[in-house]
Amino acid sequence: MSRLPATADAVVIGAGIVGAACADALAAAGRSVAVLERHALTGGTTAAGEGNLLVSDKEPGPELDLALLANRGWTTLGAALADDGVDIELEAKGGLMVATTDAGRDAIDALAERQRAAGVVVEQVAAEDAHRFEPHLTRELTAASYYPQDQQVQPVKAVAALLERARGHGATFHPATRVTGLHHGRDGRLTGVATERGTVGTEVVVNAAGLWSAEVAELAGVHLPIRPRRGQILVTEPLPRLVHRKVYDADYVGTIAADPAEAALSAVIEGTRAGTILIGSSRELVGLDRNPNWDLLARMAARAIDLFPVLAEVRLLRTYLGFRPYPPDHLPVIGEDHRIPGLFHATGHEGAGIGLAPATARLIAAAVTGQRAPIDPSPFAVDRPGLLAGEEAARAGT
Ligand SMILES: Cc1cc2nc3c(=O)[nH]c(=O)nc-3n(C[C@H](O)[C@H](O)[C@H](O)COP(=O)(O)OP(=O)(O)OC[C@H]3O[C@@H](n4cnc5c(N)ncnc54)[C@H](O)[C@@H]3O)c2cc1C
Repeated sequence: MSRLPATADAVVIGAGIVGAACADALAAAGRSVAVLERHALTGGTTAAGEGNLLVSDKEPGPELDLALLANRGWTTLGAALADDGVDIELEAKGGLMVATTDAGRDAIDALAERQRAAGVVVEQVAAEDAHRFEPHLTRELTAASYYPQDQQVQPVKAVAALLERARGHGATFHPATRVTGLHHGRDGRLTGVATERGTVGTEVVVNAAGLWSAEVAELAGVHLPIRPRRGQILVTEPLPRLVHRKVYDADYVGTIAADPAEAALSAVIEGTRAGTILIGSSRELVGLDRNPNWDLLARMAARAIDLFPVLAEVRLLRTYLGFRPYPPDHLPVIGEDHRIPGLFHATGHEGAGIGLAPATARLIAAAVTGQRAPIDPSPFAVDRPGLLAGEEAARAGT
C-alpha cells in the first residue's frame, strides 16, 4: 500500500471525476498533490454516470458558461491523451433533442434561441429530416434540434487517465484511505488531514467527495447542503449500432429543474461503443435507498420505445442506479469556504459532474494558485445566497 506523504501542498479528497480533474490541474500547476480515496478510484457516483458531456441541456447562465468551458477542456484533454495513446472513449457524437408534441416543439425552439445567444451551436432540424441523424427514430416527431458540441466519454477510463497524468506531474494517489478529520490551527486555517492510515500536513484541502462532501465539510465543523438525488439506468444487450447520438425528449431539460420532491423521468437514449444502449433517466429524492423503482423503470422503457420503436424487440441486460450529489439551488459548489480558510469545495454537480469536471478543476486551480479564473467563479461560491436559502425552502417543502 502506498505510503502517505508527511506533507503536501494540496490534498484532494475523493478520486471520482472531479477529484481526478482537480488533482491533474493542481499538479500541472506545480503543486505537490496527494489524492486520498477511501475505496479505489471511482468508488462513488462517477462509476454510475453515463458519461455525457452536455451543453444542450443547460439554460443560459453560470452552469452553461461552465459547461462550454468544460466542453473545450474535454476536447483538448481527449486530443492530448490520444497523442499519448490513451483512449478514454471520447466521442464528439452530438446530441439530438426531439419533441413529439406541439408544446415540446415550442419548448425546443425557444431553448435553442436562448442557447444560441449564449454561444451554443444549435442546428434546428425539420422533424421529417431527423432520420438523417437517427434512422430508427419514430416518424411521429414535431421538432428536433441537433447539438454538435455534445460529447461522450467513458468516465472510469477518464478518471484513471487523469490520475495517471497527475502522477506524471508528481501527484500521489492513496486508495483505501478514508479521511476522518480535518485539523486547523488557532487562526482557523487548515493545517492537515487525518486518515485511518495517518496524517498529511497541508494548508490546502480540496473537498471532491461528491455525495459525501457534506460529511467532509462536517469534519471541519461546517455545513454543506448536498443530498443524494437518485438516478436509474436501463442497459440493453449489446447490439449493432441502432442509436448513434444522444437522443432525449424535450422534457429532459425540465426534469433537471423539476420539483425535487417529485420523482421525475424523461427519456434519454444513447448507444455506446460497446454496443449496449443506455436508457435513462430518472430523478428521485429517496435518500440512499437502493431498491429499484420498477414503475419508473417501466415508464422509462415505454418512453424509449415511443421514440425508438425498434427497442420493443430488444432485451435488457441489466439496470443500475446511482446517487447524484444534489445542491438545493442546482449549481455546483466550487471555491474556497470563507468559514475555513484553505478548504476548497469542488462538489454538488448533480447530474453533470463528468461533463463539468475540467472546468471545475480550472476554477479550483485558479483559486488555489491565486490566478485569474477563466470565467466568473462567484455564482459557484459557497456563500452565495441561493445555497442555504434553497435548502431552507426544500426543508419547508416549498
Ligand atoms: C444514473 C446517473 C447518470 C449520470 N450521468 C451523467 C452523465 O451522463 N454526465 C455527467 O456529467 N454526469 C452524470 N451523472 C452525474 C455524475 O456521475 C456526478 O455528477 C459525478 O460523478 C460526481 O463526481 P464526483 O467526483 O464529485 O463524486 P464521486 O464520483 O462520488 O467521487 C467522490 C469520491 O469521494 C470518495 N470519498 C467520500 N468520502 C471520502 C472520505 N471521507 N475519504 C476519502 N474519500 C472519500 C468516494 O469514495 C468517491 O470515490 C450521472 C449520475 C447518475 C447517478
